Amino acid sequence: MTEAVPATAIGFLGGGQLARMMAFEARRMGLRTFVLDPAPDAPAAQVADGAFHGPLDDVEAAESLAGACDVLTIDTELIPADLLVRLERIRPVRPGSAVLRRIQDRQEQRTFLDEHGLPHTRWAPLSSPEELAAAPSRVRFPAVLKTRRAGYDGKGQVKVERPADLAAAWETVGRVPCVVESFVRFQKEISVILVRALDGEVRFYPVAENEHRRHILHTTRAPAAIPAALAEQARALGARIAEALGHAGVMAVEMFVEDGRLLVNEIAPRVHNSGHYTYGGCVTSQFEQHVRAICGLPLGDTDLLRPTVMVNLLGDLWRRGTPRWQKVLAHPCAQLHLYGKGRALPGRKMGHVLLLDEDAERAMETADRIVRELEADAGG
Ligand code: AMP
Repeated sequence: MTEAVPATAIGFLGGGQLARMMAFEARRMGLRTFVLDPAPDAPAAQVADGAFHGPLDDVEAAESLAGACDVLTIDTELIPADLLVRLERIRPVRPGSAVLRRIQDRQEQRTFLDEHGLPHTRWAPLSSPEELAAAPSRVRFPAVLKTRRAGYDGKGQVKVERPADLAAAWETVGRVPCVVESFVRFQKEISVILVRALDGEVRFYPVAENEHRRHILHTTRAPAAIPAALAEQARALGARIAEALGHAGVMAVEMFVEDGRLLVNEIAPRVHNSGHYTYGGCVTSQFEQHVRAICGLPLGDTDLLRPTVMVNLLGDLWRRGTPRWQKVLAHPCAQLHLYGKGRALPGRKMGHVLLLDEDAERAMETADRIVRELEADAGG
């Protein structure tokens, strides 16, 4: 390694909840933190040593951030890869522009999976009338149309039942570049959270099991209730992806389990919502781990302290005002995380609750009960 280790100031491109939790952990370890975000009161700007304000594609603002830091990282994979190329001339950016370029475009991501023989659902590009005509011969229906860029939490996704409906579905997303994928009748959704150090060392967190509602992550439980051999296969797939990308830092790979086999759904080259359980549930959180990895520090232990369930708190729960947190904190093994977001909008991730319990089933039941009570208070 050529640069000074450890880096002493970390710059976050994007100041959402992921950067906020990384900043908490970095500051605990005595590192300094700076954030670039359009909002002066962004979740991470509230807890960092300093903040720069500007759009996430603003070259000048991003270069000012780089000038103040030793290493840069991302809160979202939507930062333009071309901007990262410029920043890489000033400071190390981890993960780098090459990783982001492959991941932030769903077509590039699918092509990458094909090139490396990694299992995923059948898919076809859809960016032109010719591809619209060809897609039905390449994918099975029902299918899912997804915009190539800027899609997350089900945004820019349309389920398409029959080939005849594809043109109309493309119309509803404004005929922007898309991919079409066969709909997977999965039994479970899981995610592998791993970290890859600058020297290539890879460590894994326990494989987690996810439940989505309205395409948004609702609960994660760790460890996943899947056979050990399948968890091993999932870890191996995750490691192949991180190595093939040359990734540095934490990475999440979401997978479907369909009839006992794994299909990669999505790669996130960053800390991930389905890894929030590690912040309280594991010896080293994914946030601390990412900070360690990008600063060239030794990696931490990934062991689970107790079975853990995470449940997301969406803005819908604020419909009748601030939820009564006593209902969460009345459970001694519950931990409340709130992201400091000023406005609660439907579907917006405002925070999450962790339940640490020797009995994973009991943790799930408690999580369900807490959510039902908060939803009832909010009027359904
Ligand atoms: P994504 O933004 O691609 O991660 O999709 C969000 C969620 O939508 C996934 O976690 C699944 O629950 C669902 N989903 C996405 N793609 C598919 C697919 N091809 N088949 C079935 N469900 C899907």
